[in-house]
Amino acid sequence: ALNQNIADLDGDINVSFEFFPPSTPTMEETLWNSVHRLKALKPKFMSVTYGANSGERDRTHDIVKSIHDQTGIAAAPHLTCIDATEDELRHIARDYWQNGIRDIVALRGDLPSPEKKPDMYAVDLVRLLKEEHDFDISVAAYPEVHPEAKSAQADLINLKRKVDAGASRAITQFFFDVESYLRFRDRCVAAGIDVEIVPGILPVSNFKQASRFAKMTNVRVPQWMHKQYQGLEDDPVTRQMVGASIALDMVRVLSREGVKDFHFYTLNRAELTYALCHTLGVRPLAVTP
Ligand code: FAD
Repeated sequence: ALNQNIADLDGDINVSFEFFPPSTPTMEETLWNSVHRLKALKPKFMSVTYGANSGERDRTHDIVKSIHDQTGIAAAPHLTCIDATEDELRHIARDYWQNGIRDIVALRGDLPSPEKKPDMYAVDLVRLLKEEHDFDISVAAYPEVHPEAKSAQADLINLKRKVDAGASRAITQFFFDVESYLRFRDRCVAAGIDVEIVPGILPVSNFKQASRFAKMTNVRVPQWMHKQYQGLEDDPVTRQMVGASIALDMVRVLSREGVKDFHFYTLNRAELTYALCHTLGVRPLAVTP
């Protein structure tokens, strides 16, 4: 049944890959190896995250331009508005456009301190970018609700506003409870949100780190998952296999539920993401049956 399911999928799946700016020469090498391995899968775009401190801003910029130049694949910088003035943001937007960048992931960014009320939200950034140029904009969505949201409904309305302001798709926060994504997608449709709600898939090989991220971002780690990784604290090879198996189950259920677009949080590694794409029928052109 599994094989049949996968054969049915050939050809109509879109993928995108997310990377982060590396901080050491070794990590830099890992990033480029991964970019070059994954480019063969012809993703819709490759995106690069954007750190809170301004040092990382330039690195995002440089990596995006290199991906674009070296691979010919659309490269999307993440851009946050919380730590920049409107003038700075307009300047960055124009510079990207002049360099042939047409895709942007538009975010608010995390608050430097919980008490400080932000001057701008992501919706304001989407508007600003659309005023500058007709970028293809992705925004963030939260199946398990953003930690600061007043309510699930308020968070959903915020997403609707971002789409109404011109976003072409929403990429979700990672999740492990597939049902929460499916329920969220239904609620988006009911709210009249008519863009793809692209699941953000995090293949987990470092469970400890992933649990920490999950806690910070209000993402539930199901009990069965704790059990799966139990006893593997010192066994990265088995963890990697378990991670592949969990993520594979996830994308299989999602594709059966009609999901056609997948965003992968690669953590700059190619192996798990490549395997997941392969099983989804996303393969280099030359070997497509
Ligand atoms: P918004 O959509 O502005 O929402 C933020 C919160 O404010 C929500 O709780 C919302 O409900 C609430 N809200 C919105 N408008 C109002 C209002 N008018 N009044 C009161 N509350 C309101 N962070 C980075 O720093 N760099 C990255 O590269 C990055 N990439 C990401 C990629 C993805 C796919 C995702 C899902 C997240 C990413 N993040 C990144 C994290 C993101 O910046 C944080 O989650 C941030 O806290 C919220 O960003 P947002 O764009 O969702 O904000």
